[in-house]
Amino acid sequence: MTEPASGASPSEKRASRARAEELVMQAEDRAPEARAGDRVMQAQAEDRALIARVKNRKMQAQTEDRMLQAQANDQALQTQAAIGRLVRYGLHHGLIKPADRDWALNALLDLFGFTEPGAAADTLEASDGGRVPDEAAPILAPLIDYGIAIGLVPDDTLTSRDLLDARIMGLLMPRPSETAEAFARQSEREGVEAATAAFYRLNIASNYVRMDRIRQNDYWVYESEYGGIEITVNLSKPEKDPREIARIRSLPPYGYPQCLLCPSNVGYAGRPDHPARQNLRVLPLRLNGEDWFFQYSPYVYYNEHSIVICAEHVPMAITEATFRRLFDFLDQFPHYFVGSNADLPIVGGSILNHDHFQAGRHTFAMELAMTEEAYRHPDYPGIEAGIVRWPLSVIRLAGARREELEEAASALLHAWRDYADPSAGILSHTAREDGSRQPHNTITPIARRKADGRYELDLVLRNNRTSAEHPDGIFHPHRHLHHIKKENIGLIEVMGLAVLPGRLKRELGRIAAILSGRESYDQEALADPGNPLHKHAFWIEALVKAHGTALREADAERLLKEEVGRKFTEVLCCAGVFKRSEAGRAAFAAFAESAGWRRSPA
Ligand SMILES: [Zn+2]
Repeated sequence: MTEPASGASPSEKRASRARAEELVMQAEDRAPEARAGDRVMQAQAEDRALIARVKNRKMQAQTEDRMLQAQANDQALQTQAAIGRLVRYGLHHGLIKPADRDWALNALLDLFGFTEPGAAADTLEASDGGRVPDEAAPILAPLIDYGIAIGLVPDDTLTSRDLLDARIMGLLMPRPSETAEAFARQSEREGVEAATAAFYRLNIASNYVRMDRIRQNDYWVYESEYGGIEITVNLSKPEKDPREIARIRSLPPYGYPQCLLCPSNVGYAGRPDHPARQNLRVLPLRLNGEDWFFQYSPYVYYNEHSIVICAEHVPMAITEATFRRLFDFLDQFPHYFVGSNADLPIVGGSILNHDHFQAGRHTFAMELAMTEEAYRHPDYPGIEAGIVRWPLSVIRLAGARREELEEAASALLHAWRDYADPSAGILSHTAREDGSRQPHNTITPIARRKADGRYELDLVLRNNRTSAEHPDGIFHPHRHLHHIKKENIGLIEVMGLAVLPGRLKRELGRIAAILSGRESYDQEALADPGNPLHKHAFWIEALVKAHGTALREADAERLLKEEVGRKFTEVLCCAGVFKRSEAGRAAFAAFAESAGWRRSPA
């Protein structure tokens, strides 16, 4: 609005003012409409922005989806590629034959939810140029990861991974009857040695024997006065994590398979508290006219570590029949040793409820130990006997006729079952509260064939009595050795191979750190029962006193290996019923003589 010119007349001024007022009024009349229009425009702009934002988010989500999809596609492709590699691995290692190729491929595709091979076609034909590994573990890893991603197992714990691993390998295994027939054929044509070698390779190729884990075990030899004692720290049996332990606790008790050794384990899918055994294969055996079977141990404490198992779930029992079974086994597997754990708790193995032996192709220190006292028996003229120079109490019988050995061994078993020598702390029986007699004497027998074809049978005398002083067992590792070994001294350890728990590796590492000054020696901290080194506190104190804390690292490690070897030898001495002292040797001779054996000039 313009002001009227200053020279305007009063009437003109009035007219101008009226005009201005009218314009203001008009403007005021128009204002609500204008303001409403502005709001609409604003709302429209806001909508446009919102739509843009939503569009943007959607695009972002689509990109993420596409990326996830791409990743999933990648993982699926990688899985297919691994499937092809695994089938090629199975062919290469003879788990399957060329005629089984498509069958095995399809079974694996099905397990992972694929309807076509995709990338598997390339890797199966080796067009990716990859070589076939000696063991399945590296091929299996991506398959197991994918199986977890698509929910084939509930989680990614080691137990779940192992269950899936056996399930996958089970799809590449020959039928149990095919394995048994192949073994029998090869045994016939090339000899049993070639047949066991091939069967052992199959057990490694099938990932039943986990060589990748077994290689992690620590192993050293301690030169004792009795020969080279072998020490292994067992890192191949993985420790369970708390999640797994909690799940196992929540499980109902199962009755199938009845135990870890029952033949019903073959092909079993497993559970969190029982291993999957789709890749286990066993061979039928006849021992003493009964059905038994042969399989390898998944833990391989020594070369070709085998288990010979009764087809029936019957308890361990050392009887005359045991000796016949051991020799029947040797007649079929002359290149293996075979032995049985004793049949009483404390001095037996970890499984007493299912009769079984352990066998394999390994020479233990006990076999190499000489006999120091020679004996003859008028009833068994073909047999040379001797007391073995060994910390446990061992009578060695050797002869060419197995029947004569079976008779002599049975007579010695019966003599020992009832033998008491209170002066040596040996009581054959004690009275139970109900008045019945509790037996304590038993034998750990080990049999082998020598290069000259003779049979050799080591009878290790055992006694499982406990006392107030030794509540865990008089002839069992004594308390001061429990920080190294507190478990039963079974067949394998009797022969001079220590199987020590995996925790020891970490603990020895820390003790070496203390002895070499890398970790401070804190007696107060070690006195705390919660300290993982607490059980070694008195040992560490003695080591520090004798060697100080400034050893070179390698020297500290060497020292600890020596010390563990020395302690394990002491453990074996604990398990000897007749001690190595003069009195102990006289007591041992008295037992041999009571059984009709006479000292001979060797
Ligand atoms: Zn069983």
